[in-house]
Amino acid sequence: MRKLMIVGNWKMNLNTNEASLLVHRLNGLIQVHRDLEVVLAPSLLSLQPLSLEIDRRKFRLAAQNAYFKDEGAYTGEVSFTMLRDLAHYVIIGHSERRIYFHETLEVVRDKVAAAVRNRVTPLLCIGETEQERKAGETKQVIHDQLTTALSNLTANDVEDMIIAYEPVWAISTFGGILAKPHEAEEVMKRIRYEIGELYGEKAAESVRILYGGSVDEQVVRGYLEIDDCDGALVGGASLNYHKFSAIVDSAYRMLQEQRKDNGER
Ligand code: PEP
Repeated sequence: MRKLMIVGNWKMNLNTNEASLLVHRLNGLIQVHRDLEVVLAPSLLSLQPLSLEIDRRKFRLAAQNAYFKDEGAYTGEVSFTMLRDLAHYVIIGHSERRIYFHETLEVVRDKVAAAVRNRVTPLLCIGETEQERKAGETKQVIHDQLTTALSNLTANDVEDMIIAYEPVWAISTFGGILAKPHEAEEVMKRIRYEIGELYGEKAAESVRILYGGSVDEQVVRGYLEIDDCDGALVGGASLNYHKFSAIVDSAYRMLQEQRKDNGER
């Protein structure tokens, strides 16, 4: 069974004190949930202190980025080798990195391979821009991003990883445009289908697919109810402890309802 997952991507926000305070507040609001994984992605600087502070029954940590070389003369970079004892996951291919830092399909592929090599689980983000959607290129963009990023992996590697579908046109638009659940569903279904075609049924059944794009406590349930959706990647709303804990609560309530419907306790 795929475990439901809520990930908070804090992006370039919060210094180490503010990050600790947010974790402290979340800790008071979020319970230990057996069937739900809550992941926090602070800045690189906060990973070390938070790795000592978090309640590991409640939270796991993700890095937001790393470089694909393991060591060497790469001033300013941090490698997956350096991160592997601190973070369980690493976000790779986020649209902000593709757009602002010009990360190509090949760079994303090399980062995914470096993460796997260092036993940090990749959380790969893929998604089309507004222009690409309007031009009817969504399927092709998803295909290209997915196949290139995974091209150096085995089916076993793919089984364990996380893929987030994040339509670029729906990111951080709060109060603005949102992807409708049926639009997200169509693409997420396609992603699982493509994984099946490339890596077999077991990988397609095991890989977790998240949705991301202006998710908050009001809209999260609509996405979580999608069959192929195994959770949410949350940016802006993850910086607000009321909103983020309400998102986690919403996921938990859905799981409880499903369990009840299945006659489980
Ligand atoms: C993200 O950063 O991955 C994201 C989805 O951001 P937001 O929730 O702010 O749209």
